[in-house]
Amino acid sequence: MKELPTFKYNPNAERLGILKKEKTTCPVCGQDRNYVYQGPFYCIDEVEGICPWCIKDGSAAKKYDGEFQDAAPLK
Ligand SMILES: [Zn+2]
Repeated sequence: MKELPTFKYNPNAERLGILKKEKTTCPVCGQDRNYVYQGPFYCIDEVEGICPWCIKDGSAAKKYDGEFQDAAPLK
């Protein structure tokens, strides 16, 4: 298990509730993760369980062609 990615502009993402410690199988990378991204995601409705790593590297937004409301502070 990798360490949580560090979000340069939002180092307290977990404390702020953007990341939640919860088991998931990320629909983007297909990996089992222990953290879930909890922030808003505007694209299709039923996307859940995206891991913070896919948020961090942009692959979640790319896959779903969506936007994260707080994408800026999470880069
Ligand atoms: Zn992922």
